[in-house]
Amino acid sequence: MNKMTYIAGPCAAENEQQVLDTARALSGIEGLIFRAGIWKPRTRPESFQGVGDEGLLWLSRVQKELGLPVATEVANADQTTKALAAKIEYLWIGARTCASPITVQAIADAIIYSPHRTNLHGVFVKNPVNEDEALWQGNIRRLQQAVSNVLAVHRGCNHQPCWQMAYQLRINMPEVGLLLDPSHMSGDAERVSSLCRDAAELEYDGLMVEVHPHPEHALSDARQQITPEHFTAIIHSPQDRYTTPIELRWMRKMIDEVDDRLWDAIARRMAVSQRIGEYKKANNMEVFQPSRYNEIMTNRLIWAEKHGLSKEAVKTIVEALHQESIRMQQ
Ligand code: PEP
Ligand code: MN
Repeated sequence: MNKMTYIAGPCAAENEQQVLDTARALSGIEGLIFRAGIWKPRTRPESFQGVGDEGLLWLSRVQKELGLPVATEVANADQTTKALAAKIEYLWIGARTCASPITVQAIADAIIYSPHRTNLHGVFVKNPVNEDEALWQGNIRRLQQAVSNVLAVHRGCNHQPCWQMAYQLRINMPEVGLLLDPSHMSGDAERVSSLCRDAAELEYDGLMVEVHPHPEHALSDARQQITPEHFTAIIHSPQDRYTTPIELRWMRKMIDEVDDRLWDAIARRMAVSQRIGEYKKANNMEVFQPSRYNEIMTNRLIWAEKHGLSKEAVKTIVEALHQESIRMQQ
């Protein structure tokens, strides 16, 4: 992989030793920006919330002793002011924070009013937790009021990529660098390298990857972090050659995304159907209920018409799904 911006480091700064060890292991990578979260916006209150202000001192050591530029996550104006005062060069705004335009504006304002704003080299804006391209764009524009170098980070939703949303951003904001975060996109260390290949295939401008010296002992996101050796191997892997045009590559990824969700939906349908089967058995009901079958077929055909789909094709699909449900219930 070449000509990419690399941001790598642990999900969270846990202690000074872990921060320095990880940074040292990554310090040979040209142009690398070292990342570590110190204020962690976690879903659950009992989870590790980050080390807080103390972590700023550890990041300063990485800058001074290893000469690496550093990035941390800010989720409100106060954290932004503190990070800028500590001369952190890059900030990123997490997916949860990006769901709130008021908070994102407060962060942009905190940058504008900070006397230390000249130390800031750039801001990375994740896509919001929900699939909302307009909000992602709006957040980027809010940050552009404060800093000239704003990049977008596609981290997906619900541990799945949102290629359609990312492509839309590419088209609407072609001047904004687009990075991919395979760690939060997958939630799974085993999927990280294949997502990095997807990023290269789709001509992303960079990667943000969670790297931990001992992922199995990480205090947050343990399942998705990879070792520095693994990350180094990924970025030094040979570049694939693509003969299909870039637009077609994007559209095929979008098809993969839709199919993936389709299989997911079918699996969920079958799971519900199985519960219905158990209910029917417990209540001595017939598996095949003609009135319910007719009801399903009638309204699915109305949906088909609404979406401009062929009635014959939809009939075939509904029949196949229904048959499989009946087979499972028997
Ligand atoms: C992170 O990068 O550590 C993070 C919290 O990511 P996200 O906001 O994408 O969940
Ligand atoms: Mn994380």
